[in-house]
Amino acid sequence: MVEHLKKTYTWDVDGRVGNTDTRGLSIEVTEFDYKLPKQAASCFLVELGNGDKFLFDAGTGSAERLSAMKIPMDYIDKIFLGHLHSDHIGDLDAIWIGGVVGNRVAPLRVWGPSGAEEKYGTKYMVEHLKKTYTWDVDGRVGNTDTRGLSIEVTEFDYKLVNEIIYQENGVTIRSIPAIHALDGSVSFIMEWNGLKLSFSSDTYPNKWWMEHTKNSDLAIHECFASPKILIDKQKFPPQTALNVGTQVHTSPAQFGKVMAEINPRMAVGFHFFNDYDTQPIVLADIRETYDGALSLAIDYMVWNVTKEKITTRMAAIDEDIWPQPSVLGVKRPDPSKRIGFSKYIWDGRVNYPEVLKNIYDKINKEYGTDLAPPQ
Ligand SMILES: [Zn+2]
Ligand SMILES: [Zn+2]
Repeated sequence: MVEHLKKTYTWDVDGRVGNTDTRGLSIEVTEFDYKLPKQAASCFLVELGNGDKFLFDAGTGSAERLSAMKIPMDYIDKIFLGHLHSDHIGDLDAIWIGGVVGNRVAPLRVWGPSGAEEKYGTKYMVEHLKKTYTWDVDGRVGNTDTRGLSIEVTEFDYKLVNEIIYQENGVTIRSIPAIHALDGSVSFIMEWNGLKLSFSSDTYPNKWWMEHTKNSDLAIHECFASPKILIDKQKFPPQTALNVGTQVHTSPAQFGKVMAEINPRMAVGFHFFNDYDTQPIVLADIRETYDGALSLAIDYMVWNVTKEKITTRMAAIDEDIWPQPSVLGVKRPDPSKRIGFSKYIWDGRVNYPEVLKNIYDKINKEYGTDLAPPQ
C-alpha cells in the first residue's frame, strides 16, 4: 500500500527535490502538505446556473469542506486537477471513497495533465491511488453500492494551449500550460453562458495565462505568502523563502502585476495562510501593483457571478453534517459478491442470536421489512 502511495506522489516528490529540504520525504509518512485546521488546501467548487458542478483541485481538507456544503455527492463527480502536488490532490481519495460512503453512486471523473514521463502523469497517479486502496475497495464489494468506486481518468497533454479538454452541456473547459515544480502543471479556463472563469492552480506568472485569461469574469490565481511571512512565521531561511515565494510560486506583488495586466472583473488570490497577521502584509504587496477588484480567498468564500454583478459572500455551512441522499438512487448490494473472511477469522466470531433477533425484529416492525440475520 505504502509503495503505491509513494508512486501516487511521484510528480509531487520529484518536483520538491532541490527546492526544499526533502529529508522529511524519505520517511513513510507522506502527509507533507501543511495546513491550518481552519484553512484547507486548494479546491474550488464551481456551481453553474444549469445545475452542473465542477471541482478544480482536490487538496487536503477539501472533502470535509464539501460535505459541510450539504451537496449530494452524486454532483461531485467531475474533478479537474491542475497538478499533482499533495495540497492539490490530497483529498482525491477522501472524495473518491468517502464520496461513496457519502452516497455517491456516480463514477468519479478526473481530468488532469500528462507529465514529461509516463510516471508524472495523472493516469499513473490515479492507477497507483487505486492500488493504494485495494484492501479498502475489495472489502466494500457486496456490502455497499460500489458504482461510485470506479474512476474514469482523462489525461490530456500538458502542453496544450487553450485547447478544449471538456465540452458538455454548454460548458467548455480549456487547458493552458503552467510553470510550477516540474513539467506537467496546467491552468484551466472555463466558459459557460457568456461567462469566463480562469483558475491557475499553481504557477509562476506565464505568457499563456497572460494571453488567454484576459476578460475573465473571475480570475483565480495563486498568491503565495510574501517572502517576509515565509521567513518570520514559517522559519524558512531567506534563500529558501525567496526561491519558493517568488520562483516556485507567485508572490503577492507578482500576483498584483498579473491581475493588473489581465484585468478581470474580480481577482481572487489563494494559497497563503490568510490570517489576521498575514493578510495586511499580502494586501500591501498586492496593492503595490494592482488596484482593481480583489478577494483573498478563505474557506467557504463564495462568488456569485452574473453578467451584471459579482457578489462576494460567505456560505452558511453545517458542521454536524450527515450524508445527503443519492440523487440517482442507491442499488442494493449483491451479498454473493463479498470476498469474505478466511475460516480462521470467521471462526472467531462471538454470536448473540437473541440480541440480533431483537434488532432485526425492531427494524422489521418499524420499516415493514421481513429480514432475518444471516445463519
Ligand atoms: Zn503546487
Ligand atoms: Zn499548491
